[in-house]
Amino acid sequence: MTTHAHLREQLGDRLVLPGDQHYDHHRTVWNAMVDRRPRLIVRCESPDDVVAAVRLARDLGLDIGVRCGGHSVLGMSVPEDGLMIDLTPMAAVTVDPATRRARVQGGALLGALDVAAQAHGLATTAGNVSHTGVGGLTLGGGMGWLARQYGLTCDNVVSYELVTADGERLRVSDDEHPDLFWGLRGGGGNFGVVTEFEFQLHPVGTRAYVAELTYPLEQAATVLRGWRDLSTEAPRQATFAASVGRGFATVGYVWAGPTDKAADLLPELRALGQPVTENVGELSYVELQTREDTPEGHAYRRYWKGHYVRGLPDAAIDALVEHGAADMGISLQAYGGAIADVPDGDSAFSQRDAAFEYVAAARWTDADEDAERMAMARRTASAVEPYSSGAYVNALSDEGAAGVRRAYRPEKLDRLTALKTAYDPDNVFHLNHNIAPAAR
Ligand SMILES: Cc1cc2nc3c(=O)[nH]c(=O)nc-3n(C[C@H](O)[C@H](O)[C@H](O)COP(=O)(O)OP(=O)(O)OC[C@H]3O[C@@H](n4cnc5c(N)ncnc54)[C@H](O)[C@@H]3O)c2cc1C
Repeated sequence: MTTHAHLREQLGDRLVLPGDQHYDHHRTVWNAMVDRRPRLIVRCESPDDVVAAVRLARDLGLDIGVRCGGHSVLGMSVPEDGLMIDLTPMAAVTVDPATRRARVQGGALLGALDVAAQAHGLATTAGNVSHTGVGGLTLGGGMGWLARQYGLTCDNVVSYELVTADGERLRVSDDEHPDLFWGLRGGGGNFGVVTEFEFQLHPVGTRAYVAELTYPLEQAATVLRGWRDLSTEAPRQATFAASVGRGFATVGYVWAGPTDKAADLLPELRALGQPVTENVGELSYVELQTREDTPEGHAYRRYWKGHYVRGLPDAAIDALVEHGAADMGISLQAYGGAIADVPDGDSAFSQRDAAFEYVAAARWTDADEDAERMAMARRTASAVEPYSSGAYVNALSDEGAAGVRRAYRPEKLDRLTALKTAYDPDNVFHLNHNIAPAAR
């Protein structure tokens, strides 16, 4: 019997091979530049399937890619000629309103978590686009409109069910493998495959509010300065956000939770300049969490580069606005609040003192433009680099080890390296923003 025939017998439909009807569908991810061909795709339906897939890959000497939402800009879940552990069949979310806890399988998308929790007026911090994976987002930190009130997504994880590089199943929490609990809070997919996250939920209600004012680029420098100054006084319900590109600047905030005071910041925002358009009003929390969705977006080629900044001096704003005419999106989102309340030593996530996250993102369709578009994003981001205090691991693209050093401070990287050496000394999980184990 060939190996593949044997695997088919063992895994049935869960095994997808090149040439199978849905092979291309299962290897397609959010960035259309990613066109890799795994030798095997195992569509895992249970933690035991994940154990079997990890052991199989090790036996066959194959690289492992772990896929949840497929939103990694580098498409790291798709290993060329390797084994893809496709977690998307494990997408269930169970909410217990009495304990305000959610159990979320390792392949679930953010939208499933939001919808299940909102049925009870509950939520926890999740990202801004509902088709992003809970898996990758949470393991790298997890920023969203609730983070200034309740911390990053990783700050709301109570426990993890993990399959290690040895194919062991572990429960990880504050008091079970606390070293791993620390590392999983921001350390990315380096330590194993999470088959279930248990989250703390919060009674946020079901309403939200947005205020977004768009100005021509000529007013951008003045308006952004005023927006920055207003942001320092903002209550935690408000997350200030701005974008610049294609000749316009949009500034404003998103308010999550009961909206009785949500409009209080609006007069001062309006006084910053003469907006050409306004998008102001109340919406449901679920609408907020899906309004940036682009299901058709998987057709675009993508590249981005980001920074954290501890402040936004006038010179940084000028540098940012200088690229505002470009055909690309530059975005800013405020941190602070509960993110910064968590003691820095409590988690692998290293950037709790960030005031804003900056991202320059390009998207296009023609492969001939790849080099030019990527160079433009790098150039745009390099203008803000002098003000950078680091980078969000989930916003890294092709920076390699230098990017990992931007994401984690030296003392955290040392601790992460020791953890990796203890739990994955052979670097089985290396298709990620890799924490390399110590050489043996
Ligand atoms: C459109 C878009 C919007 C975004 N918005 C936000 C946002 O609002 N806030 C924010 O913080 N980030 C945001 N991000 C960044 C996002 O957090 C990262 O791209 C993240 O890696 C996506 O995770 P994923 O599961 O979708 O991706 P995948 O490509 O499936 O996974 C990325 C990596 O995560 C690891 N991984 C995933 N699941 C597991 C698991 N269960 N166990 C072990 N390892 C796993 C693997 O190493 C994998 O290679 C956004 C990205 C995109 C494309």
